[in-house]
Amino acid sequence: MDKIKISILGSTGSIGRQALEVIDKLPDKFEIISLTAGSNIELLNEQIKKYKPKYAYCSNPNQIEGAKVLSLDEICSNRDNDIILVAVSGKIGLKPTITAIKNRINIALANKETLVMAGDIVMPLAKEYGVKIIPVDSEHCAIHQCIKDISQVDKLIITASGGPFLKKTVSEMKEATVEQALAHPRWNMGKKITVDSATLMNKGLEVIEAHHLFNMPYDKIEVVVHPQSIVHSAIEYADGSVIAQLGLPSMHIPIQYAITYPERYEGIKSKSFSFAEIARLDFEEPDWNKFKALEMAYEAGKKGGSATVCLNAANEESVFAFLRGEIKLFDIIDLTKKMIREHSVIKSPSLDDIFEIDNEIRIKTREQILLTGSKV
Ligand code: MG
Repeated sequence: MDKIKISILGSTGSIGRQALEVIDKLPDKFEIISLTAGSNIELLNEQIKKYKPKYAYCSNPNQIEGAKVLSLDEICSNRDNDIILVAVSGKIGLKPTITAIKNRINIALANKETLVMAGDIVMPLAKEYGVKIIPVDSEHCAIHQCIKDISQVDKLIITASGGPFLKKTVSEMKEATVEQALAHPRWNMGKKITVDSATLMNKGLEVIEAHHLFNMPYDKIEVVVHPQSIVHSAIEYADGSVIAQLGLPSMHIPIQYAITYPERYEGIKSKSFSFAEIARLDFEEPDWNKFKALEMAYEAGKKGGSATVCLNAANEESVFAFLRGEIKLFDIIDLTKKMIREHSVIKSPSLDDIFEIDNEIRIKTREQILLTGSKV
């Protein structure tokens, strides 16, 4: 079989590094065409030395050693690629994804913003160009594995670990430190997504992603808390039959699935799955009162159009402010709520509208943080 020709956008981030670990286990299966990073030039140059991609890009391109520098747009226009793993975080993932789709290159998608901000543009475009979008996010990857015929699916059931504050009271959560919010019990991820997991905003964004990826109305997407993170998500068919995907909580597994799809290899498998060892699986309804971000995300999703752009931008800026110690954990929710309340929704925004609104909301959110700090 020919090698899978792959480019990784965001190769020095959490998902990017784990993707390279997957590739280390399957060296005869992959040829790396390009690697791109943000500002971590040191690690990018190390990766270039080891994996010898033809092309590379980062925010300081003149410091790249050992690969030809191409822009993100050029990297995603290169039809030598069989698949591009979009593992950058933030809105920077959106334009390259669209370029890759227009060049009929399949996408392994680990960037939430692409669908949260522009799902109504990206999914129809992928359909038009016959491009596969294979989700890397463990929940969506699980659903992707469960679905045979989407038209017969009655409900998507997305699991949530509940994050570090599952057993904490609202008042304990109000006083949470950055360190506590970053202490995720199950998953090892980047800082922004870890804070989002602590507020359950991450689950809210995943509901929006699922709506776009599987074309499912919001009232047919359910969230259930499952602290062990063994059941990665499930679907219910019209006849009441439920199919779930299970596995140990490691991002290597969904990454490998997405970049080798539709093949399956042993690759990163570390040990055989044992129900007896796991012994028990618990499930509970999310505490909607404690995790108001979840309801807010559903509401923004149902409003549609630019509402989710606003949600994403206000939340991200607030999370950054929380990480800098400028605001408290619940201020993230209050600030985001305020931005959504004051936002006039545009029903079908163009890409330019989306970037403009994103920018506007970020400025407004930062102004609000400066103005009132912790007292929204
Ligand atoms: Mg996830």
